[in-house]
Amino acid sequence: MDRAPLPPGIEPAELAWHDGVPESIRFGDVYFSRDNGLEETRYVFLQHNQLPERFAQIPEGGNFVIAENGFGTGLNFLAAWQAWQRHAPAHAATLHFVSVERFPLTHEDLARALAQWPELAALADELLLHYPPLVRGVHRLVLAGGQVRLTLFFGDINDAWQSLDFQADAWFLDGFAPSRNPDMWLENIINKIRAHSRPGTTLATFTSVGRIRRALMGAGFRMEKTAGYGRKRDMLKGVLVAENPAPIKTAPTEQQESIAIIGAGVAGCALARNLADRGYPVTLIDAHGPGAAASGNAQGALYVKLGVEFNDQTELALTALSFAQRFYHNWRDQHWHPTGLLQLAHNSQEADRQRRFLQRNDYPRSIFYPVTREQASALTGVPTESGGLWFPGSGWLEPANLCKELANHPLISTVFHSEVNNLRRSDGTWSISTENNRSITADRVVICSGHLSPELIPTKGRFRLKAIRGQVSHLPATALRGPTAVICGNRYLNPALGEFAVTGATFDLRDNNPLPTVESHNENIDELGSMLPAVFSDESDALRGEELSGRVAFRCTTHDYQPVAGPVFDGESGDLDSLYLLTGLGSKGLTYAPLLAEYLADLLTGQPPCLPANLAKRLETRRLYQTNVVVS
Ligand code: SAM
Repeated sequence: MDRAPLPPGIEPAELAWHDGVPESIRFGDVYFSRDNGLEETRYVFLQHNQLPERFAQIPEGGNFVIAENGFGTGLNFLAAWQAWQRHAPAHAATLHFVSVERFPLTHEDLARALAQWPELAALADELLLHYPPLVRGVHRLVLAGGQVRLTLFFGDINDAWQSLDFQADAWFLDGFAPSRNPDMWLENIINKIRAHSRPGTTLATFTSVGRIRRALMGAGFRMEKTAGYGRKRDMLKGVLVAENPAPIKTAPTEQQESIAIIGAGVAGCALARNLADRGYPVTLIDAHGPGAAASGNAQGALYVKLGVEFNDQTELALTALSFAQRFYHNWRDQHWHPTGLLQLAHNSQEADRQRRFLQRNDYPRSIFYPVTREQASALTGVPTESGGLWFPGSGWLEPANLCKELANHPLISTVFHSEVNNLRRSDGTWSISTENNRSITADRVVICSGHLSPELIPTKGRFRLKAIRGQVSHLPATALRGPTAVICGNRYLNPALGEFAVTGATFDLRDNNPLPTVESHNENIDELGSMLPAVFSDESDALRGEELSGRVAFRCTTHDYQPVAGPVFDGESGDLDSLYLLTGLGSKGLTYAPLLAEYLADLLTGQPPCLPANLAKRLETRRLYQTNVVVS
């Protein structure tokens, strides 16, 4: 029998404080040495993994992966980040830090624990700004402008090392003392450490317990006992040996390969920018320009409806939402307006759904919390008919402007106003031809062309993607009373941007009319009116479809309404290693694009993926592949 999914909330650490040093009540052990935790970290983990020397050798576009058992206060992470700042070369390179935590510190405790290291204050502030909500699953934090990427698994170590895919260059084994925290030191865990290591991978740990030393040796590590820090007599360090030890990573071969992205909507632009920030040059091709099609609205909400069950689909949506909120923070005074967002219980069905959703789940308030009708009205500035769920970290974006901004980077070459009409592979290279006779070659290609993608994919089978027409209406600000935050129900409404506020969108499954119609405008006005009758001002009598402007775009969606991101599946040949697809984001492109771009950039650069196996699986292209296509 299937187990009911666990609720998303994760139990935080309970701490006792002694002279500023946090101690775990559950494990009865300290997070770091009472003598000088920072110096101990530098000695045990940085020095005995030879990090300063190894960081200095990272080639351009290269990366270094540290994995850690037990994130705790993040002190080891910050010390490694600081060492990276001091020793990594000036060129683009990425430090990946993969860590696991079963009992995460609350934001408040983390701030208190890290406050005692003034020299780490700037890094601690950045970590605290991005520190994820306490929900189980994987959280990717992009720090230091992308030079440092933290993959934080909130959950048990066993699940973490089972579901994450990475090869570590160095390990920090930092559970509590083995006698107090045996789960972190089981043979099964040591075997997983081995599975995520390769010849030359090093490890260090403060403990020198014989059983652990022997288990690590049994797994293939050459172990050495060495002097411990301060009053501790011994510690252990090790290196994975092999008959032909591989040299410590050199330039990734991927770096030499050229990458082309077809489609400059929010997915294509976010991916291009992500790769460029990692030091990878890309060519971005589009029939028009950045954000010209489905991502071209003047306003769009950062919104996703979380499922009643916390299953893989809900976990993906939540991971995407929380990653997107952190990502857009970079544009907070420009194209990102974190006004908060109300998911209104706009009819009895939705009210009932929200009730069941709240009964089953225990989300932290930083993601959302239920609000009464009065609170909803106060938060949005519009008298509402009901309460709902308030997402304090959400808001709205200027998608078209955001796309332009993302595509603007010295490592992104743009080929705009060039519609791709053919994609062909010969002699190991892709040739991309356009209607205006441009020809572009690339070693690897990512198709981000929304519902037009299937036309371009040169596989025998077809991919199940469909287009859904959506028309938005521009409502004159004078016709509205507010809102001051985004309101979502059977329509969404944004706070006005200048003279109008965008509302929409229609959902027209069998309509391919690319032009705005009066009927669709009237439908938007009627739906908004039934959802939020008090939003219309006295001047709204003039609000008639005939007089409104607006925009039509075609959202691309899949048969299961889930996005797709990954190598293209080609029947018997399996997944192609040089052709990728990123699309099917439906009307949630603003929410999904940053995370899926991060994930695909991880795959393209051979860096540790930001998604666990269960979520990566949901994104696979093969589920859309159809061999028997009936052409009608
Ligand atoms: N590296 C941390 C730092 O820099 O502050 C200190 C880590 S502390 C010594 C050990 C951590 O392992 C604790 O935060 C504890 O909650 C976590 N832990 C214990 N058992 C765990 C398990 N089964 N899975 C994941 N984490 C666990």
